[in-house]
This record gives sequence, structure tokens and C-alpha cells, in this order.
Amino acid sequence: MYVVPTPLGNLADLTERARTVLREVPWVAAEDTRHSQPLLRHLGAAARLIPAHEHNEREAAGRIIEKLAAGDAVALVSDAGTPAVSDPGARIVAAVRAAGFRVVPLPGPCAAVAALSASGLADPHFLFYGFLPAKAGQRRQALESLKALPYALVFYEAPHRVVEAVEDLAAVLGERTLVIARELTKLFESIHSGPLAEAPAWMRADPNRQKGEFVLVVSGAPAGADDGGGERVLKLLLADGLPVKQAARLAAAITGASKNALYERALQLKD
Ligand code: SAM
Repeated sequence: MYVVPTPLGNLADLTERARTVLREVPWVAAEDTRHSQPLLRHLGAAARLIPAHEHNEREAAGRIIEKLAAGDAVALVSDAGTPAVSDPGARIVAAVRAAGFRVVPLPGPCAAVAALSASGLADPHFLFYGFLPAKAGQRRQALESLKALPYALVFYEAPHRVVEAVEDLAAVLGERTLVIARELTKLFESIHSGPLAEAPAWMRADPNRQKGEFVLVVSGAPAGADDGGGERVLKLLLADGLPVKQAARLAAAITGASKNALYERALQLKD
């Protein structure tokens, strides 16, 4: 089974290999068959379609495994971008591999990677979060849990929630850089970068800035950011001679700060 990324907007982003696979396989498992049909028609592909959406992944996996067992190749696609990245597909991949068949990933379009590559953020690490919870309380709670991480954070957001999401990012994460990547690869593509605190006003200033598809990329927590005293405790434990891993674990348990963030910080301090 081939996992095939499809364009985010610009058809020319379909790779040569994806084109060949989609033309040659007899079956394409698609998140939305009506959505994928025009792409297949455009390619002159004659593959038959198997619906493989969020609510039927188990059943779809069964059908795909039947085809593979009969010796047919299958391509898995989602509506746009890379399957299984904030899209259905992961359960199908797991089931296909568990049934003993090979899963072949094709690299290709992915909104998160495209946004990150043009973000200009120099953080050496990034965390792909995908969609934040839709409800404000849960969203803020999720952001609290990310606050101390020294990684660039990558979010997907829907247009009708993007302003409130940006407001919450600013309220919870504090002083950072925010990159707003909108309509990537499409006619109105725009990439705006600026201080997170100024982003809600920037978005509200022009309704066009709130339209389309968004990736939000936020720079990572600055070293020594407020982590409920985590760094202070970490330093004490390291000064007492505790190994990095143990010091990070204990400082996280004592203060509630992120163990991973403290571990990264401990490595930096040791350096
Ligand atoms: N699997 C896809 C991928 O690889 O990027 C993501 C699918 S997810 C259901 C859809 C979200 O991806 C959108 O809500 C938006 O946040 C982001 N996205 C997709 N296309 C985009 C584009 N052209 N520009 C900016 N963001 C995009």
C-alpha cells in the first residue's frame, strides 16, 4: 500500500512518483471519494475508489487488505496533503502492516512542513501539534501544557476559529514570534511573521487575513521561561550532582513543569 500525499492547492506539487503510482494502482483508498475523483480524472487514472474516512477506517482497512491479499496495489490518499497527518490513515496503515503487507510512504506536500520551512524560525526542534481543541477552556489548558517547551510549535487552525486561537496563543504563551502561514501554494498565499502579542490586532485589522487555511508556527519557549519554578529546582538538583535525566524527572515531579523541556534545558546547562 502506497501512502500518497496530494497537493494542498497547486496541482503542480504532485510529485512525479505520486503521479505514477496513482495512474498505475487499480485501487485508491480516499478520505472523500468525490473530492479525489477530479484529481484522478485529471491524471487519466482509472483506479477504482474505496472510501477511507475517519468513521470507517476499520472497515476500509479490511477492504484494502482484501485487495492486497489478491495481489493488487492500493494507494491511500486524503483530501489534501499527507495522509495520517491530522487526517485519517494511521489506523489503516497499522492494520495493513499488521496483516503483513508493505506500506510505502511517498514524501510530498504537507502544510506543516511547508509552513515551517518558510517560517524563518531557527529553533532546532519543532513540535507538530495539529488542531488545538475547539473549546476555549480546553484550548488554553492544552497551551499551558506546551508553554515551557523549548520547541517551535506548529498548529493547524480552521478559519472560523483562527482569531480566538491566536488570542489564546498570545494570552498563554507570552512573548514569542508567531508566523501565520495562510493559503499555502494557492493564489492568496501569505506568510506573516511578527510578535505574538501584536498578532490578534493584526488579524482583526483586515477580514481577508482571517480567510482560508492556516498553519500557525510559534517560536519555542525562551530559555528560563516561567515554568512554575522548574528551572530553579532543576539547577539545584544538578548542582547537587544528580544526573541530567533524574534531575529533570524530579524537577518535573516537584513543580509540574514539562519533563522533556527540563531534560532539554538540563542538557543545555551541562553544555
Ligand atoms: N494532511 C494535511 C497535511 O499534510 O498538511 C492536513 C490536513 S488537516 C485536516 C487540514 C488543515 O491543514 C487545515 O485546516 C490547515 O490548518 C492546514 N492546511 C491545509 N492546506 C493548507 C494550506 N494550503 N495553507 C495553509 N494551511 C493548510
